[in-house]
Amino acid sequence: MKDNPDHNRSSATPVNFIRTQVEEDLPQYPRIVTRFPPEPNGYLHVGHAKSICLNFGVAEDYNGQCNLRFDDTNPVKEDAEYVDSIRDVVKWLGFDWHEGLYYASDYFERLYELAQELIRRDRAYVDDLNAEEIRAWRGTLTLPGRESPWRGRPPEESLELFARMRAGDFPDGSRVLRAKIDMHSPNLNMRDPVIYRIRRAGHHRTGDAWCIYPMYDYAHCLSDALEGVSHSLCTLEFEDHRPLYDWVLEALDWPAPRPRQIEFARLNLEFTLTSKRKLLQLVREGRVEGWDDPRMPTIVGLRRRGYTPEAIRAFCERIGVAKRDSWIEYEWLEQSIRDDLNPKARRVMGVLDPLPVVIDNYPEGRSEELDVPYFPDDPGRGQSRPVPFSREIYIERGDFMEEPSKKFFRLAPGREVRLRFAYYITCREAVKDREGRIIRLHCTYDPASRGGDSPDGRKIRGTIHWVSAAHALRARARLYERLFTAPRPDGLEDLNPDSLRETDAWLEPSLAAAEAGEYFQFERQGYFIADAKLSRPGAPLFNRIVSLRDSWAKMVRDGKV
Ligand code: ATP
Ligand code: MG
Repeated sequence: MKDNPDHNRSSATPVNFIRTQVEEDLPQYPRIVTRFPPEPNGYLHVGHAKSICLNFGVAEDYNGQCNLRFDDTNPVKEDAEYVDSIRDVVKWLGFDWHEGLYYASDYFERLYELAQELIRRDRAYVDDLNAEEIRAWRGTLTLPGRESPWRGRPPEESLELFARMRAGDFPDGSRVLRAKIDMHSPNLNMRDPVIYRIRRAGHHRTGDAWCIYPMYDYAHCLSDALEGVSHSLCTLEFEDHRPLYDWVLEALDWPAPRPRQIEFARLNLEFTLTSKRKLLQLVREGRVEGWDDPRMPTIVGLRRRGYTPEAIRAFCERIGVAKRDSWIEYEWLEQSIRDDLNPKARRVMGVLDPLPVVIDNYPEGRSEELDVPYFPDDPGRGQSRPVPFSREIYIERGDFMEEPSKKFFRLAPGREVRLRFAYYITCREAVKDREGRIIRLHCTYDPASRGGDSPDGRKIRGTIHWVSAAHALRARARLYERLFTAPRPDGLEDLNPDSLRETDAWLEPSLAAAEAGEYFQFERQGYFIADAKLSRPGAPLFNRIVSLRDSWAKMVRDGKV
């Protein structure tokens, strides 16, 4: 495995630099308080899961509290639909914010008062430059910024103008409130950043009460401080904002202990995009069936695909937390769900690409029921179901080769294989249509091999799955490939046109009782789940969660993990 940072797989709680810091800080804080601060402008994705697991995990480890705070300071893109989904998802992942459900918008009045306080202290001023001028005057990494002519404006004047901004006296974009810091700072974020702007936009919670809105850098540190957050864990892009985070609290003489911001590397997952903006584009342009399309890296998508909260949490734990950006191989995610479902999922049989087989010496019109264990590798669990067997069955087309290659041990002319849990059969004839395509096999069976056990100790190398043709449950199956073709996709141009293949499936009849959301291992095919949206009684539809192909084992063998 590449880029597996500071994790420690043998202990229940991975050691990482954040926990080390928190531990060091314990004496300073009455309680460890973290927060997960999503902006409700989209659905959460697997990257957010990393942040959720980290924030809630750290709080749990130190008997603290993790708040769920909606960072809803930008009314234009936000929506209550997203708020509801985010709450659901955090709960579904298994975390509890207890009393700690907050909205940055609940602090608008308080943030306004604190901004007035900054003005009184001459640490903020109303600027009449427009956005374009501010940008031009800000300078660059190599050029210092220029001070606004309004920078020296007396606090009383700024206070009055700020009140009038709030009252709606000025058009959008005509004035802003800026922190008075240093136009020559090498850190651009410190060059008198804008902390309030005028924006006439209805807010999903405060409606039209406000026409000025605080900027993220100003609102975030104060929201943390107001909630008594001890550790504000955020992704690396905020590293350069930390001086501003600290400056605001310092300028207001915020009492100790103040929250400490610590940055960690965001999750980048190969073959996946974790940008809400780009995921929104996929949905808007109809490239996927919605936010919960089973190919989406959203939590609702993973959930519908069949990922469990346990698997997602195990994945987040396994990838660890680092201080340096990295890309995680997609197999890590897949292996997490295999590991979780392997002991949980009942084994059943289904054929996706059927080849009819007639067993010539099996009496016509007869059928029998075989008692087949749901957990063949774990006979102690004792659960089983009846599986009908009859003269005509389907096997997987790929399990027959007319001219078998050297390493092919399954069915071929004249060859004997084991039908899983049923009988040994020997292939006598392959019938072809006019185009030469094989349409049917004729076989004979050995009645003494019932249950799939060797009657006389003779060795059989191949075992294949099957379903009885007359009893098969007709269903649909959706097989997924990665949504993007590039390991580090740039955008929608890297979309995989073949990420979804829907096919007919012939399943053992016990699956007629499968409920939406129930998962199974279809032997040799992978883990499947009855689709929560599209599967109907009488018209079942199964998603393949993940194949069994154990590329993971290969990675272990190759010393990559
Ligand atoms: P936006 O571009 O809309 O800000 P965002 O993905 O940063 O997108 P937020 O709602 O601000 O969305 O994210 C909430 C929290 O999740 C933040 O603390 C952010 O740092 C964290 N987060 C977002 N993406 C990732 C990721 N890929 N890996 C780890 N944490 C992430
Ligand atoms: Mg963000």
